[in-house]
Order: sequence, then structure tokens, then C-alpha cells
Amino acid sequence: ARKFFVGGNFKMNGTLSSLKGIVNTLNEAKLTSETDIVIAPPSLYLIPLKEQLRKDIAVAAQNAYLASSGAYTGEISATQLHDVGIPWVIIGHSERRALFFEADDVVAKKTKAALDAGLSVILCIGETLQEREDDKTIEVVERQLTAVKKELKDWSKVVIAYEPVWAIGTGKVATPAQAQEVHHKIRAWAQKSISQDVAENTRVIYGGSVTAANSRELATQPDIDGFLVGGASLKPEFVDIINAKV
Ligand code: 13P
Repeated sequence: ARKFFVGGNFKMNGTLSSLKGIVNTLNEAKLTSETDIVIAPPSLYLIPLKEQLRKDIAVAAQNAYLASSGAYTGEISATQLHDVGIPWVIIGHSERRALFFEADDVVAKKTKAALDAGLSVILCIGETLQEREDDKTIEVVERQLTAVKKELKDWSKVVIAYEPVWAIGTGKVATPAQAQEVHHKIRAWAQKSISQDVAENTRVIYGGSVTAANSRELATQPDIDGFLVGGASLKPEFVDIINAKV
């Protein structure tokens, strides 16, 4: 059985003091041990927050470069994240794809570099509103996954996050049926293109306007193995989302 997984993507939000407040709330909360929990603060705050954070919650970077070192001003490598004990990284978030021009092949190379460096990866995929309206949702997510597949042999340290771009930060959550349909097709793609084992064991989590109010019903869907939460991960309701399956 796939263990439920909830990630909090803080994006470029917070201050050291406000994020320490969130960590304190999590430290004091009653959290189910049936869920893997990861928070992704801005990279600057990873180390101080990790030091303060309870040990049953892991931390993730929001990005890592594809080379391990060199003349890449402003970037941080997966090797460096691993060096300081950061176990997870988010790769291919739609904001990185759209605002920082990360194409499928760059996302694929970053995923490989992160796994090679010893990190686990939350790999984000998802279609835009235009692509959904043009009936291209499955084509787009399969294209994004196929690019990564070309680089990888082992999927055991990858969590796939399906995040429809139209649902991110919009308050417009996918319905449980809409999300389930795509998650099921992602699993079918994995079975056909990789293996039965990867299809059965890889967690596919949903992201896009997840809240405490909508998380329980989403969590009942058979192919939804957790969430990647943006805005609501900065609020006390994140605790309820973590416990959505309880
Ligand atoms: P929101 O939960 O704010 O819609 O963001 C989702 C997201 O992008 C998580 O990576």
C-alpha cells in the first residue's frame, strides 16, 4: 500500500520569524503517523527551520540546479542540498516552468541530478486551462512524464505531484472526480511505459487550492495518495490537511 504523503510548498513566502511560528504549530500538533510529511520553505530558511522542526517531518528545497557545481550564479545544486542534510526537493513546479522557462528536458535533467545526488524528488506536472479546454490534459502530463522517464531507471524515490495550473492559487480546486481521472491515467501510463511495480507503488499526489475543507473528499479517491499544498500550508489548517485521511 502507498503511504499517504502531504507536502507544504511555502513558495517565496514568510520571514524567519513567521516560518518559525508555523514550525512551532506543527511541532505542537497531533499529526498522524500514517502520513509522510514534508515542508518546503525558501532555501534560505531550510537549515534553521530543519533544526527546529520535529524529526517526523522532513524538509524539501523548492528547486535545485542540474549541475553539481560550477559557474551558475544564483543556483543551488542537489549535491549541496544533500551535503547539508536536506532530503527532498521539488522539481518542475509549474511556476518554475512558466516563470523561469524550465522546459520538459530541463525538468528531466534536474530530476535525474537530484536522484543521483541522493535526494528524493517531488516531481510536478500538470496542464494549463487552455490545454484542458483543448482536451490535451493527458497528452500534456504524458509528455512531461515521458521526458523524465528517458532520464530515469529508478522511480522509487519519486513522488509525482499532479498540479493542474488552473487550480494553483486560484481557489478553483479540481473536483475529486477530475483529479481521480488524471491520477488514474498517470498510473495507467506508468504501467504501460515503465512497469507494474512503478504503477502500483509510486505515490501520485494532488496540488491546487487544497484546503482543510476539500481535502477529506479528495483523499477518499483511490488514486489520490496525498497533497502538495501551497497557500493553506502557511495556515493552521495545514494540520487538518495532513490528517485528512484519519
Ligand atoms: P495552492 O495550494 O496555493 O493552490 O498552491 C498549490 C501549489 O502550487 C503547491 O505546489
